[in-house]
Amino acid sequence: MRAMQLKAPAPIEQKPLQLVELPDPEPGRGEIRLAVKVCGLCHTDLHITEGELTPHQPHIVPGHQIVGVVDHCGAGVSHFKPGDRAGVPWLYHTDQTCHYCRKGTENLCEHARFTGYDVNGGYAQYHIVPEDFAYHLPEGFEDVQAAPLLCAGVIGFRALRLAEVKPGSRVGLYGFGASAHICIQVAHHWGCEVYAFSRGQQHRDLALKLGAKWAGVSGGDLAVKMDSSIIFAPAGGLVIEALKTLDKGGTLALAGIYMSQIPPIDYNLIYGERTIRSVANSTRQDAIDLLNLAAEIPIHTEVELFELERLNEALGRLKDGSIIGAAAVRIA
Ligand SMILES: [Zn+2]
Ligand SMILES: [Zn+2]
Repeated sequence: MRAMQLKAPAPIEQKPLQLVELPDPEPGRGEIRLAVKVCGLCHTDLHITEGELTPHQPHIVPGHQIVGVVDHCGAGVSHFKPGDRAGVPWLYHTDQTCHYCRKGTENLCEHARFTGYDVNGGYAQYHIVPEDFAYHLPEGFEDVQAAPLLCAGVIGFRALRLAEVKPGSRVGLYGFGASAHICIQVAHHWGCEVYAFSRGQQHRDLALKLGAKWAGVSGGDLAVKMDSSIIFAPAGGLVIEALKTLDKGGTLALAGIYMSQIPPIDYNLIYGERTIRSVANSTRQDAIDLLNLAAEIPIHTEVELFELERLNEALGRLKDGSIIGAAAVRIA
């Protein structure tokens, strides 16, 4: 099969992902094989490709927002059959036995494995996944439109939950990319007012088009305070800016897997019972809930599509902030 493989982490400008031919993988017991149609881009792919995340495997194939069609089922598979459409997110496997799994937080599993990080991901013609960690996708979504739901959507949804967003509350979103452009639609569905903070004019324009109450740059003087905020951009300095506009009792969720160093925080910024918390991965229930909600609202995703061979260029565009909404590659 054709796949885009990471030889060694390097800046994306050096095109560290190479088109290679790999043996077609075969599903084992309880696993399904997908003929991959589309795989969505995520900032985590950049952090893996550029080495900000320590490699778990040499020569990995990244990609963890996979939409494909089941073409082969291993023994014992019961929830999927050949021809079914399926989606695969970041969470690839959990042990179900550790302390965290047993208390319902499998996203924190001691032995969790992740798609496109611990095992080869979706920038390839085929993908093998345990059927228990694959999802049926809502019918109203084309393959391309469904891809960003799988990480941008699922992680964004978990971030909204962990930021304790309540119906009708005021929500600040910092960094308006793939995840925020889905989150704003969920927040509106809950009757919230959304404030979008982004350095990019086109990102702010998208936020306003999607119904943001306000869009601007962080650091200015806003007359109102947020009940909940989420930072999607991997910039630690934004924590200070977000705390300055967070109301007493409010919660700030940090949605990224990687963030640059957070500057020292003056205690006054968190005094007033403000909470800061990170968002780490997601549970299978998060994915199920988000996919159901996406169909119910329904969520519309804006996706710029690239061919698989142009993955380096596409990730470069993600890095320089010129992707408006989400991006994905098509596997022909
Ligand atoms: Zn992701
Ligand atoms: Zn576990």
